[in-house]
Amino acid sequence: MLNLVLFGPPGAGKGTQADYLIKKFKLKHLSTGELLRDQIAAHTELGQEAKSYMDQGFLVPDSIVIEMIRSELQENKAVNGYVFDGFPRTVEQAIALDELMIINGTEVAAMLLLSVEKEELISRLLGRGKTSGRADDQGTAIIENRILEYDVKTRPIKDYYAAQNKFHRIRGMGTVEEIAQRLIETVSAL
Ligand code: AMP
Repeated sequence: MLNLVLFGPPGAGKGTQADYLIKKFKLKHLSTGELLRDQIAAHTELGQEAKSYMDQGFLVPDSIVIEMIRSELQENKAVNGYVFDGFPRTVEQAIALDELMIINGTEVAAMLLLSVEKEELISRLLGRGKTSGRADDQGTAIIENRILEYDVKTRPIKDYYAAQNKFHRIRGMGTVEEIAQRLIETVSAL
């Protein structure tokens, strides 16, 4: 199995690039943000709880997202591998993912960090906010909050994967196709 963690701050282009990776390597896309938005749209209790954090740009509690991923892995066993998009976002989640991978007889092959400058992130997210309908893409205050959550809680995961020699930095600036090409080259060389 080929399991990839697509990593980077909000607005780095993880969702867009995940599409290229799943097509190229025939993988299953697992985005915790999308799964949470599905829960909100379905008006579930979990969705209601998650929404209160998401709308303010805060991370949803680890227990919620880990359980969601656990059940997705259970339901999608016959795959070539997964692209994890927006998960893990804390070191606790990274540890839980490793445990889940072991249970499933596999492991994370690589963590791919899309690195993008902060000004570019904010302008991309504000641009997306005009059409995405996402509450958390509206206004610089909430976007700054999401970037702060990333800096404090998510960025440290880099060291977790670096210690396992699984960390790869990919320049996330340029055209969508150029960035996709860099990612594909990195994964092909694994
Ligand atoms: P995303 O679509 O990845 O930008 O995620 C949107 C929002 O969903 C985030 O700002 C968080 O509030 C929440 N979220 C998504 N994935 C996670 C995660 N792995 N851990 C905690 N919160 C998450």
